[in-house]
Amino acid sequence: PSGLEVRDVVVRYGGDARRDPGTTAVAGVSFDVAPGDVLALLGPSGCGKSSLLRAVAGLEPVVAGSVRFAGSDLGGIPVHRRGFGLMFQEGQLFPHRDVAGNVAYGISGLPRGDRDERVRELLDVVGLAGYERRATTTLSGGERQRVALARSLAPRPRLLLLDEPLSALDRGLRERLALDLGGVLRATGTTAVFVTHDHDEAFTVADTVAVMDAGELLQVAHPEDLWRAP
Ligand code: ADP
Ligand code: ADP
Repeated sequence: PSGLEVRDVVVRYGGDARRDPGTTAVAGVSFDVAPGDVLALLGPSGCGKSSLLRAVAGLEPVVAGSVRFAGSDLGGIPVHRRGFGLMFQEGQLFPHRDVAGNVAYGISGLPRGDRDERVRELLDVVGLAGYERRATTTLSGGERQRVALARSLAPRPRLLLLDEPLSALDRGLRERLALDLGGVLRATGTTAVFVTHDHDEAFTVADTVAVMDAGELLQVAHPEDLWRAP
């Protein structure tokens, strides 16, 4: 078994054992992501996408079901031991470090030459060649998210988890960056799960789209099937 295997995962907030059942944000969801594939979790606000992604990351407890990667159960494995990369709506760059310092964050253990080479290569991949010494405070919103993407790819995560990484940007930029993001993930062969409420974005970025509503997975679709006549 390889890739990500999510089985009957339940995520719940609040509640107590006696009376209050709390909020069931994810009500038993299963899906697989094969190595090199990009899966979008698509659905309206509040349907549980973010909770599910956070559970895969190890940021929320899985109260029932399991998350496995490359055949190993990740139950009890803390977030920083999973070998996953994370990227959120606001990239949360380190303001006191320049662009290269941000991208190199997860690869500080590499020898300097290798690190510089990897930073250069990643900035090229995300369309920011030559930006190494720029202060992050001088970047546009789109440029900041490109740096955040390069940073999360630097340690070659075995799985990249993206939670609405384009949602804070304006519409035109979002469409352009969605195309670029899909291209970068494919070019780098990155296995990824991408959360979005935007239908067009899901189909631009991902190979497979898992449609969620009210804590459940409604269907798993491949873009080409959606447009096929019944
Ligand atoms: P989405 O990412 O699709 O917008 P979320 O996973 O953020 O959905 O939320 C799913 C449900 O869980 C919602 O009803 C939301 O209010 C609830 N929820 C999310 N986070 C928390 C939390 N930290 N505490 C309590 N309820 C939460
Ligand atoms: P380790 O646990 O091996 O010492 P880290 O805690 O630095 O390593 O990172 C573990 C994983 O988490 C890395 O693969 C990296 O992709 C991801 N990661 C940690 N912090 C960030 C971040 N700020 N941005 C993107 N990815 C991160």
